[in-house]
Amino acid sequence: MIKKPIYFDHAATTPVDPAVLEKMLPYFTQVYGNANSQHVFGRQAVSAVDKARDDIASFIGCKPSELYFTSGGTEADNWALRGGAYSDRKKGKHIVISPIEHAAMLSTAKELVKEGFVVDYMKVDEFGVVDLEHLKSIVTDQTIFVGCMMANNEVGTIEPIKEIAKIAHEHNAIMFTDAVQAAGVLDINVKELDVDMMSMSSHKIYGPKGVGALYIKNGLRIKNLISGGHQERTKRGGTTNVAGVVGFAEAFRIAMENREQNNAHVTMLRDRFISRILNEIPYVKLNGATGDKRLPANADFSFEFIEGESILFSLDLEGIAVSSGSACSSGSLEPSHVLLALGVEEALAHGSIRFSFGKHNTVEQVDYAVNVIKYEVNRLREMSPLFNAKGEIKNV
Ligand SMILES: *Cc1c(COP(=O)(O)O)cnc(C)c1O
Repeated sequence: MIKKPIYFDHAATTPVDPAVLEKMLPYFTQVYGNANSQHVFGRQAVSAVDKARDDIASFIGCKPSELYFTSGGTEADNWALRGGAYSDRKKGKHIVISPIEHAAMLSTAKELVKEGFVVDYMKVDEFGVVDLEHLKSIVTDQTIFVGCMMANNEVGTIEPIKEIAKIAHEHNAIMFTDAVQAAGVLDINVKELDVDMMSMSSHKIYGPKGVGALYIKNGLRIKNLISGGHQERTKRGGTTNVAGVVGFAEAFRIAMENREQNNAHVTMLRDRFISRILNEIPYVKLNGATGDKRLPANADFSFEFIEGESILFSLDLEGIAVSSGSACSSGSLEPSHVLLALGVEEALAHGSIRFSFGKHNTVEQVDYAVNVIKYEVNRLREMSPLFNAKGEIKNV
């Protein structure tokens, strides 16, 4: 019997909600005008984009004029960091970000170092939570930009953004948060968080890929990343992805409307999964924080004596889709930069697997997966010279 594969990789991307697709469809074939055009087709497109902007602005507590649509989270992150870095050259060239940011931030930071900026990294504790005392000691009056994700995509740790923002603002630095994993799950009101910029992405919340947004607080003078026409109040060129923007707003609306219910569902799956894995498999470490310091849909484990990639491939053969490290760093043999920042030793950082649950997952899928994982981990360990050298195999 061929079983339908099980998807436990919602932190990488999610399926488009059929209601979202439904909402998007007319914007491909009927309301296809360029939102910049001065005629009825253009006006119809504009009014759809305006509505989407109003809706998303209301979900995050900003003015519609403070929200800019982008091609996704990566572009929004690039824009925030690069634009923030170059916003006030007179103040300084010092940037502070967390070491567990998404590659969109870390790669941009490396480029900025080549351009003459100085980047320092916050310290995080063993759970991945930013050390505020250490942060206070590295932010100075020359710091122009402080950036920390609201929730980590690999280990699911939720960061104290409000407290970080306070430290940044004491030194008049711009405070940015990457809320891609937090949107639709946590409260991301920009006023309450007191952030100056915030990035979001549609495809992590059951919306289409290739669309996202950056909130830029009124009054901030952020350099453009994409030059072009007069779209997005001349801040971001490129013909507006009308269907994408409409889908993003609808996905966000559905996520907000069902937030408590979805969070309760994935928390139940996560907690069942975590407790079964820890109780039923020896030599396993849960990476990241626990309880409400962890994203409700995330579980990340290091399985001692085996490579994460081997587990991923074995689970894939059994029809269970997961991720090793983060989707962006897999494909390389480097251990996860996130786990190394948490102080996880290198061997364990190689053996990590992320499970991220979604609204369509079931208890049956979780239980089936636990059984397969038990079997596969045992099988792989039997082949592992390290494990055999430990002489433990008979006891498992
Ligand atoms: C997925 C993700 C991104 C990138 O968003 P895209 O829309 O895929 O470019 C950025 N930050 C975090 C935390 C993410 O999980």
